[in-house]
Amino acid sequence: MEYTEQDEILIGKLQEELFKACERIAKKESDMELVRKAFYFAKDAHKGVRRKSGEPYIVHPISVALIVVNEIELGIKSVVAALMHDIVEDTEYTVSDIEHLFGPKIASMVDGLTKMAGVFSADQTEESETSKQAENFKKMLLTLSDDVRVIIIKIADRLHNMRTLGSMPAHKQMKITSETIYLFAPLTHRLGLFAIKSELEDLSLKYRFPEDYKMIESKISATEANRNKYIEKFNSPIADILRANDIDFEISGRVKSIYSIWRKMQRKNIDFEEIYDIFAIRIVFKPSPMIPEKSQCWHIYSLVTDIYKPKPDRIKDWVNIPKANGYEALHCTVMGPDGEWVEVQIRSQRMEEIAEKGFAAHWKYKEQSSNSDGEIDKWLKRVREALSSSVENAVEFLDNFKLSLYSSEIVVFTPKGDQVTLPQGATALDLAYDIHSKIGHTAVGAKINHKIDSIFTPISSGDQVEIITSNNVKPKPEWLDHVVTSKAKNSIKNFIKKDNQNNIERGIVIFEEKMKSFGIQPSARVFRKVLPAYQCSSKGEFYSKLGAGIINLNGVEKILRQNAASKMIKYWSLQLSNPLRLLKGSGNSDQKKKSGDDEIITSEDEYNMELSIADCCSPIPGDQVIGFRGEDGRVTIHKKSCKEAVKLAAQHGENIVKAQWSGFKAISFLTHVEVRGIDRMGIMLDMAKLISEEMNVNIRELKLQSHDGIFEGVVSLYVKSIEDLKVIMSRLNKIRGVEKVRRIETYRE
Ligand code: MN
Repeated sequence: MEYTEQDEILIGKLQEELFKACERIAKKESDMELVRKAFYFAKDAHKGVRRKSGEPYIVHPISVALIVVNEIELGIKSVVAALMHDIVEDTEYTVSDIEHLFGPKIASMVDGLTKMAGVFSADQTEESETSKQAENFKKMLLTLSDDVRVIIIKIADRLHNMRTLGSMPAHKQMKITSETIYLFAPLTHRLGLFAIKSELEDLSLKYRFPEDYKMIESKISATEANRNKYIEKFNSPIADILRANDIDFEISGRVKSIYSIWRKMQRKNIDFEEIYDIFAIRIVFKPSPMIPEKSQCWHIYSLVTDIYKPKPDRIKDWVNIPKANGYEALHCTVMGPDGEWVEVQIRSQRMEEIAEKGFAAHWKYKEQSSNSDGEIDKWLKRVREALSSSVENAVEFLDNFKLSLYSSEIVVFTPKGDQVTLPQGATALDLAYDIHSKIGHTAVGAKINHKIDSIFTPISSGDQVEIITSNNVKPKPEWLDHVVTSKAKNSIKNFIKKDNQNNIERGIVIFEEKMKSFGIQPSARVFRKVLPAYQCSSKGEFYSKLGAGIINLNGVEKILRQNAASKMIKYWSLQLSNPLRLLKGSGNSDQKKKSGDDEIITSEDEYNMELSIADCCSPIPGDQVIGFRGEDGRVTIHKKSCKEAVKLAAQHGENIVKAQWSGFKAISFLTHVEVRGIDRMGIMLDMAKLISEEMNVNIRELKLQSHDGIFEGVVSLYVKSIEDLKVIMSRLNKIRGVEKVRRIETYRE
């Protein structure tokens, strides 16, 4: 199929736009020749192929190249690589053909892009799915070590695929949006491409939660007129005073992205109307050449705060210490007209460009900048280190890597005054491992701002931290709960793995000797008594703790003589339920069939599958849900908003099963409700009665703990739908003494 006349018109338009954009950045005539050559080569190579949308395929690479040149502002080589990014994957041509025609540099970029092409199947002609996505993610991230531009072009590729996601089938949309939110958006953020990151997030939301998206979008536009009036009222005295001080500036009010508003609503469980910082004021100034930009930022700050009172604890100084993704600006929150808090962001034009274009602008300004060992370079160095030292399996690696992308950063100082950037939430122990794994392994304490404190103390920006070491300590598994960086986690895990093996061997010897002295065999019966007594969940744990000297066998004789059943229970536990009617496991498949129209799931492929309800989010009818097919063929149902589900969709997108509730009268679902209140006689009975007698709902378990006149606990019960649950919760709330009733999403028994 050749290009039609209409195709040619469409392609011609894009071609003109691309060539014009490239002329702006071309340094010499040969640059344009290269672009033209790549364009005609790609157009010919993709001839006859169409995307799902029906457009000629070549529209996609041209669009990606346009994003690269216009929105990210990379150079000619990157544009050329973007034009040819799908050629090796989708056509007959090979990397060596490209090397032959365009030279080794461009060929190696296309090669990198091709290696990644197998990782994601977002490109709209591909039908094949990869099964080991996590492994592939890892491979993709390895290209970070070669040439960051390759990743950036891949991000542009993803952006265009997200912009045209509408023509993809729903289950692919879920897979692609999950990958985007799980990996691409944080990666884009980490590279400082703020505008693109926001768009990726907004587009993901639009496809994942279309109603929420539309709701926020329409509320933003409904409140626009009022907001603009307010912004004008707020800005006009600032504009006057800046002009009076001969400052060349632009001032504007910016509404937050739909996604960040949505996130805030979710996180704080509030309505749109309750969000006070829906917009921020941005002042971008053209610096006068003789005065440092930094001083000018603070000058503007002082002029602004002459007019509006600042909130003292809300100054964020990313001018002196830029964020790790390169972001620089001075943020403050001031009291505006009508007593409203308003955030003001002060930036120079250079800072503005870095904020919007991130990495690319960072390189552009690198030569002019005084501190040229940019934070991004440091981060890339750390990523490379992490990649080369990583021993984890791919999924773990990805989790940790992702963590390092998401977190915002803190900057702390060593006693010598060296700056160290760590993710938010990092502890002194993270710092110890960041300095060197030997320091980490032997850390016993930290001097934080000259005061001695635990090694597990979280540290904050600006702290001066000195690590105290001793050769008498070694890493323990608990340490893993007190570190956030993947470097620290890996080092601790590695150490423990090695140490553990030694301990287990030692433990076995100790235990067997002891048992021999009693003249008994270490049988399963022995372990049934010993393991709970020592609070170990497995033999391995028991041996390892024994070998490490964490536990000893002094009391073991008594334990072995004891009859079982004297379980230590700190709370009381009551079983009120009838035999379970939960739709779970294979034993219930009969019931599933019996219930006929009560089946909860209809999948696109109509074959019998086994269902389980995910423990992590315990969805119940009424929740938006999604299914994942496991290796055994069983489908697990998650809430759509479940973090675990997003992760699964990103890592095993091929296993997504569309799921929705149909009728659900006869089947009940396990859910957990947290209750809290004032302890009084009989309250438990009141609750149990209400639930099981009046509401006729099965309680699986009622766990209540009481202390200081307060009780708190968890009711696990089987409900039929979210409506049922709402009724029960509101009735529970009315019981005398009960003060708080809340559904819990993640409950570990
Ligand atoms: Mn592509």
